[in-house]
Amino acid sequence: MKLLLCRECGDVVRLYPKVWRSCACGTSKGRYLEDNSTVEQSAGSLSIALDNHGLRDAITVWDQSAAAWHPLMVFRAFLNPTCEADVRWIEPAPGADPESGSDPGPGAGSGPAPAPEPEPEPAGAGVTPPHE
Ligand SMILES: [Zn+2]
Repeated sequence: MKLLLCRECGDVVRLYPKVWRSCACGTSKGRYLEDNSTVEQSAGSLSIALDNHGLRDAITVWDQSAAAWHPLMVFRAFLNPTCEADVRWIEPAPGADPESGSDPGPGAGSGPAPAPEPEPEPAGAGVTPPHE
């Protein structure tokens, strides 16, 4: 799973297939392409790769005994390098409004943005989740 990290505001954004999602300050945005592997995101942002299998295993352990969980039980995450073929950094389009479009995120058309809340599943939930 790839996440976008905005270096302006520090927001970390889970990217969805096809739907542009933006950080809290609006400087960075990104999305998965239809292959569910490649992302395109704003130049200057960072791409975090979470090891899906490690995360899944950690959740399994958590579900077996949350009280036994310890921070030393880790899973892998790393920054994708600029040579990573599955990450395309794009310059923001002139006049592009990252809030427009079908992003169902908080604050869309509802005045001042409230505190971040869990995002609803994107349309088409049930599709294979994006992978690294
Ligand atoms: Zn930002």
